[in-house]
Formats: sequence, C-alpha cells, structure tokens
Amino acid sequence: MIYFDNAATSRPDEECLSAAAVYLDRKFYNPSALYAEGYNLHLELEEAKKNICANIADTDVFEAVITSCGTEADNHAIFCGGRRGNIVSTMGEHAAVFAAVTESGRRGVEARFAPLCKDGSVDADKLMSLVDEKTSLVSVMHVNNETGAVNDINAIARKVKAKNPHALFHSDGVQAYGKLPYVLSENIDMYSVSAHKIGGLKGTGALIKKKKLQLSPYIWGGGQEHGLRSGTENVFGIKMFELAAAKAYSRITENYKRVSAINARLRELLDERLFVCLSPESGSPYILTVAASGVRGETVLHMCDDEGLVIGTGSACSSNSAKRRSRVMSACGVGEDYIDGVLRLSFSHENTVEEAEAAARILSAAVQKDRELTN
Ligand code: PLP
Repeated sequence: MIYFDNAATSRPDEECLSAAAVYLDRKFYNPSALYAEGYNLHLELEEAKKNICANIADTDVFEAVITSCGTEADNHAIFCGGRRGNIVSTMGEHAAVFAAVTESGRRGVEARFAPLCKDGSVDADKLMSLVDEKTSLVSVMHVNNETGAVNDINAIARKVKAKNPHALFHSDGVQAYGKLPYVLSENIDMYSVSAHKIGGLKGTGALIKKKKLQLSPYIWGGGQEHGLRSGTENVFGIKMFELAAAKAYSRITENYKRVSAINARLRELLDERLFVCLSPESGSPYILTVAASGVRGETVLHMCDDEGLVIGTGSACSSNSAKRRSRVMSACGVGEDYIDGVLRLSFSHENTVEEAEAAARILSAAVQKDRELTN
C-alpha cells in the first residue's frame, strides 16, 4: 500500500514505540505520587516536555503544556488567550481554531477572519487591518493543512505586536512541527503541536507557551501541568512524543529534501490536462493538493484506495454539497469546476520517489476512468 495521507496521521515510529514500551509496564507509576518511583517519573516528564519545546524554542523563554491533542492546544489558546474585545484569525484555519474562534464569537468576543490568498496563505495586509486596540488575540496557522502554504508567522507576529503590544499571538503549528526548520520568535506567545503527525501517538499534543504568560487553566483538577491542565499524565504518549520529535528534528533537513523530491516528481508526472496544482511551490513539501475538473474527490479517493493508493480529499465527507465543500478551498477562490475534485497527497520521510511514480499512474487512471463513467 502507498500511504500518502500523512497530514491526517502518520505511522507510529517502531523504534520509538519499543523505546517507550517501558512506560507501559515497568515504569507504570503515577508521576504525582510521592514515593521515589513516582517522583522520578515526574522528573522524566519534565525533561521530556523541555525537550519537546527545545526543538523549536528557547527553553528559558518558552515551556510546553501537554494536552490530549493539537485540537485541545488550539482550544486552550483561543478560549484562555482571547477573552475580551475581538479575536482576529484567518479563513484558512483548521476547524480546531476556526470553530473555537466562532464559538468565542457566540460567547461575546467578536470573531474576525482575514481572507486568504489563492494559495491558502493569509492576506497579511487584510489581517493587519482587522487588528485594533481591542484585539486580545491573533491566531494565524503556520502551515495550512489543506494546501501546505506557509505563513511567515514571525513577520506577522512582529507587525501585530507593533500595532497592539497587548494582543497575544498564537499559531497552530501542527503541520509544521518536526517538518519545517523553524525557531519561535519572542513575538509569538503560544504555538500548538501534535504528536501523531510526526510518528508519535494520537492522544498527545502540546501548547508551547511563553513562561511569563499567565494563562488560565483549561482543565481544572489535581493541578498537573503547573495547574493549567489537570489530569494524570499520559506518560507513554508523552515519552513517545519526545522520542518521535527528537528523531524528526535530528533528520529534519534530510527528511525535508527527501519529501521535496517526492513532491517534485509528482508535480512533474501529474498530467496537466487532468490536474491543476493548488499547493504553492514555495509551500511545505509535505503537502501536495491538486484538483481535477468534472470529478468528485471522494469517488477518485475510493478508486485509488482500490488500487492500493491512500490519499485524502480537500473536504469532509457529507452528502450535503454545501457542507461537503471545503471552506478553505472556497476562501482560496477554487472555482466551481474544480472544488468538488480536490485531492490531498501528503508525505512522510518513509515514502519514496518510486511510490510517487506509481501514485501518479494510479491517480491519472482513476480520474480518466471516472470521467468516462460520468460522461
Ligand atoms: N491543526 C491542524 C493544522 C491540523 O492539521 C490538525 C489535524 O489534522 C489539527 C490542528 C488537529 O490536531 P489533532 O488531530 O492532534 O487534534
């Protein structure tokens, strides 16, 4: 099977799984327990959190708060960071941010969404025109999960702080962490990451935040995560995250080059008469989104699945066509001819150029067959 849906989730790394297995049996203790076994585990977790943070930030300035996933990290940032005035975000956000900001709008904080450029990046000038003295939070994703477009969040955060130094700046970095070489600038207050996109497990994420930022708790209880997120820690998941992230960062340049070659080969091979490329060439090489006219993405996805190629679509599955269409693709201005035929291919360092060549053949054949059947 050729697995090209790594932006949805990645295969857990086997080496890391065996290394972390000790936390499922021998080191099973509660890290809040007072006896040595528990306390030592607590120290190991503190070290793991520091390491997860150190991959992208200065640990004198930033710290990681462990969450159950990227979605929870985003919700924590939005609901606890944007409590008054208005929140400025973008039309390109993952639902984890978009729905949380929309909900904040229902709870009395004005929700403002900046439009996108054609490639899925935010129109930074229009975003800045929405920021004013009442803005409490600005949230701009780092890598767009539907197109791979990269927002220059350090530059945007600098402009936001120059206009309103009291506004907090958050970025959803779920599709960037472990993939793009990058360091958080001091203008960024919060950054969300998730383990299962980089060989870790589903069920672990983190909100990387400025140490001096006084954020209110998201989950109340026994006071774990310095009181910000109570609940007995998922020790196995956190250790897996630390190990998978360490592996990803130790090979970040090598992996980036490998995936870029896969992406480039597909761009070269996909027949221009059948597909348009929606992902920008300057975007993350880990995501390649294309669209074919006159076909339904879901139909092509199933046809490819039958041939052993697993890919994603640009839209959620729903029989209601208004709901089926991706908000993000509409915001990018994808036209009527193409919007139902969006397909997302997303890669990992485990993929090969040979897989890309086979995938191009399978995809082209599926689109041609679907067109023949519908005409
Ligand atoms: N943000 C982005 C950009 C994503 O791509 C995803 C998942 O696809 C999430 C947030 C949610 O992460 P999680 O699945 O860990 O909740």
